Amino acid sequence: MADIIQLLPDSVANQIAAGEVIQRPASVVKELVENAIDAGATQIKVIIKDAGRTLIQIIDNGCGMSDTDARMSFERHATSKIRSANDIFAIRTMGFRGEALASIAAIADVELRTREHDKELGTFIHISGSEMIKQEAVSCDAGTNFQIKNLFFNVPARRKFLKSNPAELKHIINEIQRITLANPEISLSLHHNGSVIYDLTGSNKRVRIVSIFGKQINQNLVPIDTETTLAKISGFVGQPKYSRKTFGEQFFFVNKRFMKHPFFHKAIMQAYEKILPPDSVPSYFIYFDLNPADIDVNIHPTKTEIKFENESAIWQILQASVREALGKFNVVPSIDFDQAGSIDIPMPLHHFDDITIPEIKVDPTYNPFETKSSAKNYGGNSGGFTSTPTEKTNLTNWQSLYKGLESDFEAKTEPMQDIQPVQVKMDEQQNTRTSIQFKNKYILTPVKSGLMVIDQKRAHERILYERLIQVLENQEIASQQQLFPETFELNAADATLLTSILPDLRALGFDIREFGKNSFIINGTPGVLNTSTPVEIIEYLLEEYKNSPVNLQEKARETVAASLAQASAIPYGQALKANEISELIDNLFACQTPNFSPKGKKVLSIMPLDDFEKILK
Ligand code: ADP
Ligand code: MG
Repeated sequence: MADIIQLLPDSVANQIAAGEVIQRPASVVKELVENAIDAGATQIKVIIKDAGRTLIQIIDNGCGMSDTDARMSFERHATSKIRSANDIFAIRTMGFRGEALASIAAIADVELRTREHDKELGTFIHISGSEMIKQEAVSCDAGTNFQIKNLFFNVPARRKFLKSNPAELKHIINEIQRITLANPEISLSLHHNGSVIYDLTGSNKRVRIVSIFGKQINQNLVPIDTETTLAKISGFVGQPKYSRKTFGEQFFFVNKRFMKHPFFHKAIMQAYEKILPPDSVPSYFIYFDLNPADIDVNIHPTKTEIKFENESAIWQILQASVREALGKFNVVPSIDFDQAGSIDIPMPLHHFDDITIPEIKVDPTYNPFETKSSAKNYGGNSGGFTSTPTEKTNLTNWQSLYKGLESDFEAKTEPMQDIQPVQVKMDEQQNTRTSIQFKNKYILTPVKSGLMVIDQKRAHERILYERLIQVLENQEIASQQQLFPETFELNAADATLLTSILPDLRALGFDIREFGKNSFIINGTPGVLNTSTPVEIIEYLLEEYKNSPVNLQEKARETVAASLAQASAIPYGQALKANEISELIDNLFACQTPNFSPKGKKVLSIMPLDDFEKILK
């Protein structure tokens, strides 16, 4: 038999390697900006068109390359940063493999202009799909200028895999945030389709954080500075009151590179134990500096997880530093949110403190309200819900929904009565349905098989979401005009995002217009929301939108509606009146999908009767 093994041509090998290093436009941006920083650049300009599909251009004032180096830089395993295998151990966090440029050139059209500072002429190289098209001397600025066009032109599968422009742009912005936070002394500007997203002047960490996340973060930054033999830990943590419900302002850096570290994240969360509002996560910007030899070898260029040699010791140091910083800034004693507006629970109920809701084992497919006729059809209300939050509850609907369960309400509420601190007597028309609001967060309601726990915020999100979707589907835009139009300003990234979702917001009933650079004016809000704080809602909405899973963002309208519902729902901690609780429950079960929030979180769960018997043994 003839020999069948062949060496892959370089172009094919490069294309395969590219799949690993370059997943999306943001990977190109990351590799090229990091190269610019390695080349000693102090000023970097990043120009993006169509979220990187058409153009990614990186211009730096770094050292530039000679004509030979310029040509060599596109070869695989070509790097000026490692001479011997030993070097890898010294710079092991950096991920130098000399693969980035070879990979990018394999899957795009690349034009390079580069000149060393002491040379008069520079070099121009055009390379496309690993094929050298042209190399010649040119006059150009000192430093390096890369233009990457038609990314993935020869890898259709990759091109198809790319998400929407806003989603890809978000990845790019994330990379830029990470790199510029890691290197605050470097000036960098980011331009997208002609508008400036960031224009950052080299400065210190605090100024950099504020330029990226906005002025309001400044007074909330608590500095951290600890030096031990194992590591130097510096940076900032956010005050608990500034913490958000969503991720987006949590950053770890090690030796000037961003890393993810779930274990260290836990150290921080523990330091904040008991001083955070429920379900929120603090901002943090933590910089570790340590001997590269104390970090486990992991030179995969796209990996952001890094393993530390002395992980548990550093964990302790980190946790102690955060605690100390929070204590020093008197952050700890001023927080007391547990009491505010909550029901004073009598002693015997303290058993409930041991109940951790998420661990209750229930049949996830079990829907207590699935009667012979499904909830969707009940009451003959086509949309499945009543129209405004203030509309009076239709008690008959409630009863019909609970057909088969209502007798249960009567029977099973009795044993509960001794331990219910608040008993809400419902309208005479209704059976003695008793609900108590617990911790101003949950609504507890007895059902046939036990005690149903409803998350009040998620329930309201579901109700608002279905209303908003109906507005979209029926195109019944109803805008409530603001008495006093409000103007507000956003940071550049948020302004870009808001502009991109403005059409969807208008379809939902917002009357918002651009009003100068990064400023907007709100003239009207969606009728169904009945809100008096539109600016807050827009800010919260953007936060939620940014943190929505990318696959959800593909359905931009649904994501906007879901984020808007999240932003406008009654918050945790808000005490509800008896009739509000009742309305909330009724409106929830009039929804098409009452069990889940618009973003797929559980709205309700049932604590089985058996469990009560167990804990009271
Ligand atoms: P690596 O960064 O791992 O060395 P790359 O493929 O990213 O591999 O780059 C290859 C080489 O090209 C670098 O080692 C460097 O010498 C050179 N190079 C790349 N970008 C620049 C730049 N912006 N300025 C100067 N030299 C650069
Ligand atoms: Mg590189």
